[in-house]
Amino acid sequence: MKPLAVLHASQLVTLAGPRRPRAGRELSELAIIGDGGMLIRGDRIDVVGASSEIEKNSGDAEVIDARGKVVLPGFVDAHTHLVFAGNRLDDFECRARGDTYEQIAKAGGGIWSTVEKTGTASEADLLLEARRHADWFLRCGTTTVESKSGYGLTVEDELKILRVMRRLNHETLLEIVPTFLGAHAVPQKMNADDYVDLVINEMLPRVTSENLAEFCDVFCERNYFNLDQSRRILSAAKKRGLKLRMHADQLSSLGAAKLAAELNAATADHLEKTDGQGIAALKSGRVQPVLLPGSVYALGSTGYPRAREMIEADLAVVIATDFNPGSSPTASLPMILSLACTQMKMSPAEAISASTINPAYSLDRGDKIGSLEPGKLANFAIFDCEDYRELAYWFGIPLTHGVYVKGKKAD
Ligand SMILES: [Zn+2]
Repeated sequence: MKPLAVLHASQLVTLAGPRRPRAGRELSELAIIGDGGMLIRGDRIDVVGASSEIEKNSGDAEVIDARGKVVLPGFVDAHTHLVFAGNRLDDFECRARGDTYEQIAKAGGGIWSTVEKTGTASEADLLLEARRHADWFLRCGTTTVESKSGYGLTVEDELKILRVMRRLNHETLLEIVPTFLGAHAVPQKMNADDYVDLVINEMLPRVTSENLAEFCDVFCERNYFNLDQSRRILSAAKKRGLKLRMHADQLSSLGAAKLAAELNAATADHLEKTDGQGIAALKSGRVQPVLLPGSVYALGSTGYPRAREMIEADLAVVIATDFNPGSSPTASLPMILSLACTQMKMSPAEAISASTINPAYSLDRGDKIGSLEPGKLANFAIFDCEDYRELAYWFGIPLTHGVYVKGKKAD
């Protein structure tokens, strides 16, 4: 493969800095190089600097002219539910008409319709749909996504979803980091404790023996999995070598953020209802908060998580799409940048750190992706704008010009 020289970016947003997640003021430091360039050899970044320097050393490299454009590390989306069948268009329309969640569930909508469709879909059909979703992520400038199972809720269907992720990972340039979320909901007609036993005694051993997941997640929420049940599942997963993430404090404040800290989870996600005590717990447990403004927005709510307080408490904040058919049908991190700035009062620079380098660390990949530095994978996105702040500003407008994963262009 010929070397690749990216030249004359109006802003090469490198995110170069300390080798750890960025907190507090560090979130605003993007290490931008004006008229910047990169030399790429094979799948790695070799040199980063001023275009004049890169040009001198580029030899016979293939040139990508990034004049008038912004170059960023590929976005890293740390919370998605990528694999599911169908959509929830009917729910969407009912909500638009003003129906409540309970009315929609009664009419056969909600998560159960997705669980049913996903259960009856073949692995091949699910793969086809997931490939379409993966293309959306790439087209929005995302090069790595975490993806959760959780629409199976039986041993075989949970495994089926995780196997689809594994196959997809080989078929698309998008990197997929698999998370086992068997405890997404309690199947209808089943007792919660019995289901927790099934997750621990039957699902987890299969998931880990087939090496199908890196992380385990639990939906810790009233009427889903309480603190004790969540602790049981996550502790069992940890013993089997999985790292932990958690759906925490989305609809009510049960103390899930505290549990995440107690278990040394990598992340606690959602946190719409997390209070000052929860924030302090996350800080003491070095848990990264993953904020999901897309689901607040798409549900028509206004209760966004307290991003500013979290940044002021020196937490290494992450923002993600929560891509899923029910509450957040978007694969666009640029859209999430807009929501982060307008609704959670993060600065555009903070939002960029929270969607690149910080999620990379939350997925245990901070040494490989999330910034444009020599030795890291050549995962980057080029946008049709001259200033990175435009990504959050021109909301709903596709600005992606080109996306590269390990030095290869996605089409
Ligand atoms: Zn989620």
